[in-house]
This record gives sequence, structure tokens and C-alpha cells, in this order.
Amino acid sequence: EEKKSLNFIEQIIEEDLKLNYKKEDLKFRFPPEPNGYLHIGHASSICLNFGLGEKYNAPVNLRFDDTNPIKEEQEYVDAIKRDVEWLGFKWAKECYASDYFQQLYDWAVELIKNGYAYVDSQPSAVIAEQKGTPTEPGKNSPYRDRSVEENLELFEKMKNGETTEGQHVLRARIDMAAKNMLMRDPVMYRSLHKKHHRTGNDWMIYPLYDWAHGESDFIESISHSFCTLEFLPHRELYNWFLEKVSSPDDFKPKQREFARRNLSHTIVSKRKLLQLVEKGIVSSWDDPRMPTISGLRRRGYTPASIKKFAETIGIAKRENVIDVSLLEFCIREDLNKTAPRVMAVMDPVKLVITNYPEGEEEWLTAENNPEDELAGSREVPFSKELYIEKEDFKEEANRKFFRLTLGKEVRLKNAYIIKGEKVIKDANGEIAEIHCTYDPKSRSGSGTEESMRKVKGTLHWVSAKHAIEAEVRLYDRLFTVESPDADKEKDYLEYINPESLKTITAYLEPGLKDSQPYEQFQFQRIGYFNVDKESSSDNLIFNRTVTLRDSWAN
Ligand code: ATP
Ligand code: MG
Ligand code: MG
Repeated sequence: EEKKSLNFIEQIIEEDLKLNYKKEDLKFRFPPEPNGYLHIGHASSICLNFGLGEKYNAPVNLRFDDTNPIKEEQEYVDAIKRDVEWLGFKWAKECYASDYFQQLYDWAVELIKNGYAYVDSQPSAVIAEQKGTPTEPGKNSPYRDRSVEENLELFEKMKNGETTEGQHVLRARIDMAAKNMLMRDPVMYRSLHKKHHRTGNDWMIYPLYDWAHGESDFIESISHSFCTLEFLPHRELYNWFLEKVSSPDDFKPKQREFARRNLSHTIVSKRKLLQLVEKGIVSSWDDPRMPTISGLRRRGYTPASIKKFAETIGIAKRENVIDVSLLEFCIREDLNKTAPRVMAVMDPVKLVITNYPEGEEEWLTAENNPEDELAGSREVPFSKELYIEKEDFKEEANRKFFRLTLGKEVRLKNAYIIKGEKVIKDANGEIAEIHCTYDPKSRSGSGTEESMRKVKGTLHWVSAKHAIEAEVRLYDRLFTVESPDADKEKDYLEYINPESLKTITAYLEPGLKDSQPYEQFQFQRIGYFNVDKESSSDNLIFNRTVTLRDSWAN
């Protein structure tokens, strides 16, 4: 019965435990390349690997796959660590592929000595041309049979930067007729005369992914190395390299593949996300419109909501696109339980209560969160002049309009029942003020018969003289189509939503004055909002995390 709830990755592990693995053998890793910030796709991989670590009480390493100094930076290393920690996971060891450069080099020398690697001195275009096609074998390089001595000498020169970039590469010597094209003498090292963020100028050659990854797994005794499906054809090479560097009884890691996760209306590729930053389409990697973990955090997503999302979509064997509405559902569910309710008016119109005493004010009790008994209540000021949402009033409306109209009653949340009496218009014919009367006996929670009276609509409001202003950033999808990078012919930048950010000034109840960055609220009937990291009491900034699906009934 328990079997059913296991995903296919867990099934592989369970099988291994039955056959020849001990529980202590289990060890996993999450291996990001520090060439950008982590995104929601990485969250799936993080939750998979660290989740297995929690489930089997096994260590999980955080391994930086830092083999390409052209694209990698310390800033990205720091951001990745911050994001994994924020999600609530703890790695056993912080590792770097660059820590293994010497070991990898020594192994490469061994491979050369055993006739399994050679220095090729052809331009990369020629090497590519000789690869053949899936149906035709490739051609051997004229340098394939170089002597071991010459190979060793050239390889050392490459390492020291005594040759030029692009002059030579080190290739594995496998089989130019292999059915798997990746086995046709793949490149192991290239010369890059670039400074590395960790090894400085120690190395003028850098290993390629296939050569570095499995060997890093082996060095760390990783039992299961999970990667995305596009690496399935690499598995043969992964195993070939492992076989060459280990002895037959060594414990060897296993590469297994799962489907890359895609989210609708966005892109999950560090390279493309970097473009959005560089072109100024978004303000930064943590712009709240970005599908990065730091962008989601700044937008108001919680670790719990992201984990819930990853858990809900699970692990798949085939690629597909997950609708962003599922992610939004996860954050709504979480914030519904935890976010204090407050009143904020986005697009105000003045409401004057003509029979309310001039100059008077009172503080009314408002429940903080109906979903959480322990959340308590707060006091909100009420007075003769209020703001309500423009869209909550119509001079004339049909019977389905349960908001304010002339001659009809609605309740003001936490306050009184009011009745629309007349409108005052400005010179342009726009509504300047709505005049209404209130029923003084109808105060919410007062226990009077009048307070229990049922009226169709309930509106949020703020007291005009007490309200504070805040900048509110209304975010929408960054792309107008579901899969902006699906069409290879078209540039995904053509699908940018020009209205992905709208900034307004809103009017808030005064208690929000001292709210702190990352604090979260439900603006009742509007949505969930959090305080931006750049907000201060003098310049309040709120980000809309997500709209409310439903407005409350009463
Ligand atoms: P990107 O194209 O965004 O750079 P990547 O796969 O090159 O993606 P890495 O930093 O190498 O990024 O990824 C670290 C780990 O996260 C890898 O194991 C990778 O397979 C996994 N991963 C990356 N993107 C996704 C995704 N969209 N869904 C699931 N796992 C992913
Ligand atoms: Mg990668
Ligand atoms: Mg990448």
C-alpha cells in the first residue's frame, strides 16, 4: 500500500536498498552551476534531493558545479546558498567541483597514459564536422594516435597556459562510430585563460560537464545523482568515465533522470533570466516578477508554499508545463491561514456620512484573521469622511450589483450599515463625493438587532483623515503567453507583458505605518500583499503577491 505513494525516484532507491545498498550508503547532492540565481525549476530539484535526504536521513551536499569561469561568479554562489537556506534545507557539506580540479587533472593524466585520452589540435568546427550524424559514423581525428609522451607534454602546456585558447582540447578516446554521439570522443578539457572566482589563475584549462560531474559525485560518494532528462544520453558517458577512474569494487554513483519542470507564463533558464536583468526588462534577479526563488520571496511567496508546490507537482518522467495558477493556489492557501487582514483602498473615492457628527471619530474593533483564533483583533479609526473603492459605487445599478448605489444599503466592514443618498460631481462630471447616511445602531459586534440586520454587500474602507499613503506595486504575469520560449523561431522577448507592473498610491489603515519588510497582509477583498524590502515608514511600499480568488461574503 505504501508503495503506491512512492514516486519513481523513491522506487529506484527502495529497490537498491532491497538489492545491494545499505541505508548508510545513501547520499545525495544538489549541484547548481553558479551562473545565475536559482529559479522555481531548481526548487523542484532542491525539494527532491533534500527531501530524499530527510526521508532517508541521508546527507545531501550542496555542490557548486563551477567549471566555467566565463559565466560564474561569487555573487551567484552567495545567492544560491541564501536561497537553499531560506527554503529551509541544510546541506551536509558545501562542495565545489573546482576543489577537485587537481584530482580530475591527475585522473586525466592516467587516462592519457592508458590510451583513453588524447590531445586534439584541430579547430572546434572541424571536430564538430567529424562527429558524423546519428546514422553515419564519425571520422577519426588525425591526432587520435598521438604518442602518450606527446599527449602528456601538450596537456601540461595547456594546463599552464603555454598554448593558446582554442589551439588544443583533450578528448576521451572512445569510439567515433558509437551509436551514442556523445561517446564519439567527447571533449574533456578546453583551454580558457580566464580567472576563476575560486582558483584564480591556477588553472588555464577547465573540465567539461561530463568529465567533472560524475567524478565529483564519485569523490563525494554520492549514491544517487539525479539530473534532468536531457542528460539521459549522457549516462553512458558518465558510467564510462567512472569505470576509468575507479576500481571494479568501488562504490559508484548512479545517474538517474527526471523531467525538467516548466512553469507557464515565464521562463526557467538562468541564461534567459540573466538577459531580462541585463536588458533592464526587470530591475534585478529578485524583481518580484521573476520566477527566481529570491524574486518569489520578495513577491511574498513563503518557503512552505514553494515546497507545497514542488510536492504537489511531484516528480515526472516527461516534460510538461505547470500552470502558474497552481503556484498561486499554494501561496493563497498558506497566506489565508497566516496573513493578518487589513483594509486598504486602491482607487479611492470620498464617502461622506452626512448624519455622522462633525469632527468626531471612534475606534472600531476589527478581527485580524477569521482563520486564526489566536490572531486577535485591532482597532481601526472611523470618522465622517472615508475612502472606499471607486468600483464599489454605481449611481444606478442592476440587482446583481451588491455594492453601494443610491437608495440602497451596504455594510462597511467592521463598522456600520450605510445608505447611498446622493453624489456630488466636479466640473468634469466625475464623482467627487458620495453622500450617505448611516444607521448608528448597526455597529458590527454591538449585539443590537440593527447590527444583525442582513444587507447584501460589505465594503472595505479607510478613514480619510487617518489613512496613510503607500506605494503599491501590482504585478502581473511577465509574459503574455503560456510558453514564451517554446517557439524556437521566435524570440521570447517578444512576449513580454508590457503591463506586468503597475504602480499606484493606495490608502491604508494607519496601523500599517510601521510594517516591516517581508511582513504579509491580506488587503481584504483585494489580495495578499507584502512589504517590499526597500520599504520604510516614510516611504511604504507593498508588493501584490497574488489576488484573492474570492472576495469574502460578508
Ligand atoms: P538553467 O538552464 O536554468 O541554467 P541548469 O539545469 O543548467 O538550468 P543547474 O544549475 O545546472 O541549472 O541545475 C542544478 C540542478 O537543478 C540540476 O540537477 C538540474 O537538473 C536541476 N534543474 C535545473 N532546472 C530545472 C528545472 N526546470 N526543473 C527541475 N530541475 C531543474
Ligand atoms: Mg547544469
Ligand atoms: Mg545551465
